Amino acid sequence: MEKGPLAMKIRAIGVRKGKKEPEIFLIEKPQVTKPNQACIKMLDAGICGTDIDIIENSLVDSPPGEDKLILGHEAIGKIVETGEQTRFRKGDHVALIPRHGCGICAPCKSRRSDFCETGQYTAAGQHKLHGYFSEFFVEEDEYIVKVPEGIVNVAVLAEPFSIVEKALQQVMNAQKRIPTHEFRKTKAVVFGMGSVGMSAIALLRNQGIETHVLGRRDNTDAKARLATEFGAKYVDIRNKNVNILKEEIGKVDLVIEATGATQMVIDLIELMKRNAIYVFLGIPKGSEELCFNIKGMVHKIVRENLIIMGSVNSQKEHFEVALKHIEEIHAKKPDAIEKIITNIYHLDEYKLAFSKSREETIKKIIRFKED
Ligand SMILES: [Zn+2]
Ligand SMILES: [Zn+2]
Repeated sequence: MEKGPLAMKIRAIGVRKGKKEPEIFLIEKPQVTKPNQACIKMLDAGICGTDIDIIENSLVDSPPGEDKLILGHEAIGKIVETGEQTRFRKGDHVALIPRHGCGICAPCKSRRSDFCETGQYTAAGQHKLHGYFSEFFVEEDEYIVKVPEGIVNVAVLAEPFSIVEKALQQVMNAQKRIPTHEFRKTKAVVFGMGSVGMSAIALLRNQGIETHVLGRRDNTDAKARLATEFGAKYVDIRNKNVNILKEEIGKVDLVIEATGATQMVIDLIELMKRNAIYVFLGIPKGSEELCFNIKGMVHKIVRENLIIMGSVNSQKEHFEVALKHIEEIHAKKPDAIEKIITNIYHLDEYKLAFSKSREETIKKIIRFKED
């Protein structure tokens, strides 16, 4: 099937400019044209809030000269064709790194486009590059990472895990400003149980970190139970203010926010110990004005050496460590990590897959047929 004529068409899910619904497009099968490229047969591709946002708000940032964008920026596949200069072999399982550097700024030139200074980077499935909801994909060697063979069924989680790995790398670097720091003694709070929140819970618990998870659901809810399965302590924050949380949990060294802004997001600063770090990973939608005591907050930030930071995207080193940690977690808790993938759809079910049902899902994926 793969040895068809050059004009062979494949199926891909995308959105047309000005439209607010996904479509299946028949596109030319991509070809390896450079020695550093490989062709990947897609296996699993994750659906993320960003995809839904692009669709619902028609934020179609197509490649130049085109009127559609193939979506998808979280995926794994199998190498089916290689140029002479790739490190990969046919049959290798690999994950893909969506962001490509601008080629202008220093971070991008040193392969850290996650810190791109110009904002002129491109990103598969998001900005000016087609994405991974496509039966085949051709990519350059430097944006491909090998997946360990034992974890192919969950490796599509590499992208959300890599986001948390980058954040934790920065947290560890920041903690080193305190000479006596010990990361393993960190006490953490994670707010949110979407794929990024759950990745944070799994990764922190994998390192033995005391982790408290905040959510607005019953203890018996599937997400709350999964957090507990990873060894975190779940706290239902409905009807609780930050003072109650302070009594219940105590103060913490690390807050990871993975929901998007609400009043509680601001209030959680109160939960920070001296020298603590607060990382924002959730991207809020829309706008909302909140009232808070800014003088009191700045007072606390300064007097207590607090760090409040945002973090976005990730690069190869984060994917590599994410896959290593996924392998460790999978060895210890295979059922738990598999439960992060809550919904598996085939390409034909794309309408259902992209419909709104965020509440009870963690990670929805498109699983391409293996032949
Ligand atoms: Zn995403
Ligand atoms: Zn750049």
